[in-house]
Amino acid sequence: MTRTTSNVGGCLHDQGMWCPYDHAAAQGIRVVYQSQPERGRWYPRPRIIALSYNLPPTLERCVLAHELGHAHHGHGCDTDAAEREANQWAAGHLLTAEQVAAAARAYPDHPGRWAVDLSVTPKLLLTWLRTPGNYDHADRLYREAA
Ligand SMILES: [Zn+2]
Repeated sequence: MTRTTSNVGGCLHDQGMWCPYDHAAAQGIRVVYQSQPERGRWYPRPRIIALSYNLPPTLERCVLAHELGHAHHGHGCDTDAAEREANQWAAGHLLTAEQVAAAARAYPDHPGRWAVDLSVTPKLLLTWLRTPGNYDHADRLYREAA
């Protein structure tokens, strides 16, 4: 799999990646931009996700996926458990073991590059790697291809 890092703009259809913007549209969730203290906010009843203006594209993609996780789980308030669930949901949709293994093959000595290559924040990649089973799956694929 060849991939580029010219991913500005959020949507990465050409790379076969899950798209949070399409997911929101398919779920009837409207995405709006506004000036607000938090990066993202989920309004359950009008089914609106408000994103802060001027987030860098990769961060915006991850924040939107996180808020979609709140929507998916029906969260109404921001408890620590809800935050964890939303992060895991986002990581599970934004990343696959195949993609993480491909990034590891492309930059075996530079794990710091993986998140950049995968268009996610380092925090989201860590969430993915710490979710039981994920690391082992990606590691297996990495070794198989070596
Ligand atoms: Zn949250």
